[in-house]
Amino acid sequence: MADTTRYEGEPYDAGPVAALRRIAFLLERGREDTYKVKAFRGAAATILPMPTDEVAAAVEHGTLAKLPGIGASSAEVITEAVRGVVPRRLARLEQEHGGPLTEGGHDLRARLRGDLHSHSDWSDGGSPIEEMAFTAIELGHEYQVLTDHSPRLTVAHGLSAERLARQLDVVDAVNEHLAGAGFTLLKGIEVDILDDGSLDQTDELLARLDVRVASVHSKLKMERDAMTRRMVAAVRNPFTNVLGHCTGRLVTGGRGTRPPSQFDARAVFEACAENDVAVEINSRPERRDPPTQLLELARDIGCLFSIDSDAHAPGQLDFLVYGAERAEAAGIDPDRIVTTWPRDRLLAWADPQAARG
Ligand SMILES: [Zn+2]
Ligand SMILES: [Zn+2]
Repeated sequence: MADTTRYEGEPYDAGPVAALRRIAFLLERGREDTYKVKAFRGAAATILPMPTDEVAAAVEHGTLAKLPGIGASSAEVITEAVRGVVPRRLARLEQEHGGPLTEGGHDLRARLRGDLHSHSDWSDGGSPIEEMAFTAIELGHEYQVLTDHSPRLTVAHGLSAERLARQLDVVDAVNEHLAGAGFTLLKGIEVDILDDGSLDQTDELLARLDVRVASVHSKLKMERDAMTRRMVAAVRNPFTNVLGHCTGRLVTGGRGTRPPSQFDARAVFEACAENDVAVEINSRPERRDPPTQLLELARDIGCLFSIDSDAHAPGQLDFLVYGAERAEAAGIDPDRIVTTWPRDRLLAWADPQAARG
């Protein structure tokens, strides 16, 4: 992202909505608690549709905090931005969370054109579809795939066939608005791999999508042979494009830790290579999936890879560099990483009608 570092007290002409959005972005990128982020995103949503002079009048009369969703800290940010100085909160967060996230991986990150895995508030993400798209554009992406969860994952408000069909119309509408931005929001799903290896959505809907990430979210402790059969069956499904966070492990973070699922990684990755399915390098710091040994095994087998953010909030779309750092360290050829490909090449690869092999 371009250097947008702001210093306290400097002139500021981007306006209060931009200030609030940037603060929320930095909080999410810095993995701060969601309730803090909500305060700023909510305030941005409140003032976005208001005429500028109405916002200015509320600042003058000190009545900002009477507006829905605006508390003391967001009112302070709005006031400073309206008065044309860099908000103190923004300056502080730029210092704290605006710097590089990693030491390495920046060259490879610069080659990434998009991201195949992200969630909106239609499933368990925190922001609306359009906000995810705007932020992806700001990060310089050519494409972002929206991959909300499938029906079986009820805890994450997985989308029924009916809701997914409705979401596809929303994606069309967002793209119409963004025409000319050099960006496409692509249609996708993170589809659950069911116990028998089948996918948790109808073929009719899977066929209407651009990209499908298939992931295991249940029975992660399944016995090794059964898990191997389950994953291989999912990888062989002609609709599967990406095998999401293959071991399911959690290495750190608020959800605690979780050991990796047990399966015959060689058999699963060989199936990926045979079926042109990309092994996901999941960039979330608490996942770091696949673990390094498996990443190197998949590399040696000749798999394709997809470096994905698995973002559940706009600021998390910037997590890609974490995955890029690991891929670079493992010496993975950038041309084997499908997210370095231009949109048309990516779409041709992901098309289930295309020849495989
Ligand atoms: Zn997942
Ligand atoms: Zn996900």
